[in-house]
Amino acid sequence: MQLDLYVNTLGRHLKQRFPHRVRKLSVDGAFTCPNRDGTIGRGGCTFCNVDSFVKPHQQSLGVAEQLEQRKAEMKHKDIGYLAYFQAYTSTYAEIEYLQGMYQQALEDPSVVGLCIGTRPDCVPEQVLNLLADYQQQGKEVWLELGLQTAHDDTLKRINRGHGLAEFSDTVAKAKALNLQVCAHLILGLPGEGPEHYMQTLQQVLALDVDGIKLHPLHVVEGSIMAKAYRAGRIQLMSQDEYVEQAIRLIQHTPPEVVYHRVAAEARKPLLVAPDWCEQRWPPITAIAKGLAATGVQGSRYCSE
Ligand code: SF4
Repeated sequence: MQLDLYVNTLGRHLKQRFPHRVRKLSVDGAFTCPNRDGTIGRGGCTFCNVDSFVKPHQQSLGVAEQLEQRKAEMKHKDIGYLAYFQAYTSTYAEIEYLQGMYQQALEDPSVVGLCIGTRPDCVPEQVLNLLADYQQQGKEVWLELGLQTAHDDTLKRINRGHGLAEFSDTVAKAKALNLQVCAHLILGLPGEGPEHYMQTLQQVLALDVDGIKLHPLHVVEGSIMAKAYRAGRIQLMSQDEYVEQAIRLIQHTPPEVVYHRVAAEARKPLLVAPDWCEQRWPPITAIAKGLAATGVQGSRYCSE
C-alpha cells in the first residue's frame, strides 16, 4: 500500500518541488542538549536516549564526510538530499558554529536543503534569520520542533523543560519569516489518551504549522522511561491502537500539511518495547489501508 496516495507525505511534497528524487540524510553536527547539560535541565526528556538517533562513529566525522558515507549507501545515485541535523539540539551552539555546520552540508552540490531538528526554546532570532537566508537562496528548509504534546502537565511529567508557550512563540517567529515548521508529536505519552492527541493536533494546526512528524511512544534502553517501564509504571500502545489514532489525526489534518513521518522504528537491543516498533512497514501499511477504506488526509478536517 502506497502511503502517499492517502497522505501528503514529505516524499510527495518533494516530488512536486523538485524534478528528481530527494532523500533525507541524517548528519550529526556534534551538538549537545541544554536539557542534559544543566542549562535548562539534567537527565533529559524521560523518553530520550540520543544513541537511538546517533549512528556509531558518526560524531567523529565531519559533515561532508558523513554525507559522502551516507550517499555511498544509497541504491539510487541520481538524487538530491536534504541534510537532516537530527541528533541532540541542532541549534544549540554559537551562530558561527551553526553557520559552519550548515554551510558544510550546503556546499555539497547534491544537497538541496536542510532539516534542522531542535527544541522550541532553543531557536534565537539569529538562527531563524540564518535559516530564512538559506530559504531565500532557494534551499528547501524545514525547522523541526520537538513539541511531543501540547499539554503542559505532560511536558512537565516527561521533563521536557519547556511548555506549549515556547513552541507557539517560536512557530510565530519562524512563520513571520516564511520558514516551514514541522511539529514532532508523540502518541501514547503517560497520562494521555485520544482526546489529548486530538487537542494537541488542533493546537499545532491553529499555529499554522506546515508539517507534522508523528510517532508512537517507544521505550529505548538508557532512557529514564526504560526503568519506569520495567517497574510496570508505563503502558504502551498496541500497533492497532496506534494505527487507529494515527488515522484519526491524519483525517483531521488539512490536506496541504506535510507528514514527515507517521510511525517510528527502533532496533533491538536499543528498543525495549513495544516489539512492533522494530518493524517499519506494518504500521505504515495498516495506516494506508485504513485511510484507503475510511477517508484520506483531510477528509474529516473542518476549519470552522
Ligand atoms: S529529546 Fe532532545 S531535548 Fe530531550 S533530552 Fe533528548 S536531545 Fe535533549
